[in-house]
Amino acid sequence: MLETLVGMELGEIQGLLSKLEGASVPAFRARQVYDAIYRQRVGGPEQITTLSKSLRAKLATELAFGLPRVRSVYTSSDGTRRYLLELADGKTIESVLMPEGERHTFCISSQVGCPVNCRFCLTAQLGLERNLTAGEIVGQVLLLAAFHGLSASIQKLNVVMMGQGEPLLNLDQVMKAVRLLADPQGVGLSERRLTLSTSGIVPKIDELGQHRVRPKLAISLNASTEEQRRALMPITRKYTLRDLLEACRRYPLRPWEHLTFEYVLLRGVNDSDADARRVVKLLGKLRCKVNLIALNPGPGIPFETPEPERVASFQSIVKRSLPCFVRKPRGRDIFAACGQLKRMAESEALIGIRPRSELEVGAPFASRPVERQTEPVANR
Ligand code: SAH
Ligand code: SF4
Repeated sequence: MLETLVGMELGEIQGLLSKLEGASVPAFRARQVYDAIYRQRVGGPEQITTLSKSLRAKLATELAFGLPRVRSVYTSSDGTRRYLLELADGKTIESVLMPEGERHTFCISSQVGCPVNCRFCLTAQLGLERNLTAGEIVGQVLLLAAFHGLSASIQKLNVVMMGQGEPLLNLDQVMKAVRLLADPQGVGLSERRLTLSTSGIVPKIDELGQHRVRPKLAISLNASTEEQRRALMPITRKYTLRDLLEACRRYPLRPWEHLTFEYVLLRGVNDSDADARRVVKLLGKLRCKVNLIALNPGPGIPFETPEPERVASFQSIVKRSLPCFVRKPRGRDIFAACGQLKRMAESEALIGIRPRSELEVGAPFASRPVERQTEPVANR
């Protein structure tokens, strides 16, 4: 596969230009290329108009630009959009856009599939196909921002690494992407608006804490005892709940920061009042908040969603001691909600999603995706 421009840091672009143009290439050329990719967010080297035509042509022949291609877009009745994106090697991932007034949240993927095998998660059924490169991670943000015309308002964007994959099992590429996203000379997002969610890869949590520029940390707790967590998240055999909480206690929070614990509520499994009290005990001494997520169902997921009253009771117990919120499910009807990302284009028939109409959405670049509107899903 060709090298890609998207994903290169300034020093790498400098090296590339000296290779293409010789050592005499002025230093500001690399800065112009970097600015065009990450700040102007152009769609390809031919649009970098500060460069000579011959250099643009060289870039176009020697490298791939590296933005993913949009294969389809699914729009939910609540405005959420699920993008099925195709990578250079034909593999596909998903990114989700959740509009909320002026503020948008992008949920992006860090791996193709996921190796972690949580019992309640559809992505787990894919297994791990491969890690994403930094360019493929940043490319999701660049592409979605361009599609939604977010030029001035990009600073208000929240980006969460809660799509496909376990970001801490691809930490080097994830951190390179974070540097590009958080660079004021690059994409320019605030690190306070970047969040990484992990199933609890203990040594990598320590490693993450060593980075000067880093996203906020969310931990998928999902259980109130060691045994329960082992049954739901087999990774707990390797990284116990006890070690995970130890890592949380020594994690170097910045003055403005708190940890977020996510807790997927599974009916009759981990959603009792006793579970809620144990969660408070486990987390009580940490500077943190808790986000409850009622299970988003899916084919082959052997659990049920609790009744709203159960969720409310659980929340009211935790809330006495810790900030505790219930995460509103977004885009469940198009399988875009947490844990539902499993490349439904391949399995549309399986879950009953059918394209009802095909219409073009305003694409900023050459590729124009097909928008699919969906029938309600049968199992809800
Ligand atoms: N791999 C990372 C990030 C992606 S999963 C992690 O596990 O943290 C993002 C969130 O979705 C996690 O908190 C996970 O527990 C939650 N989740 C997974 N499957 C879900 C489901 N079926 N319903 C609701 N939330 C789910
Ligand atoms: Fe992977 Fe997260 Fe799904 Fe677990 S919940 S299988 S870690 S994507």
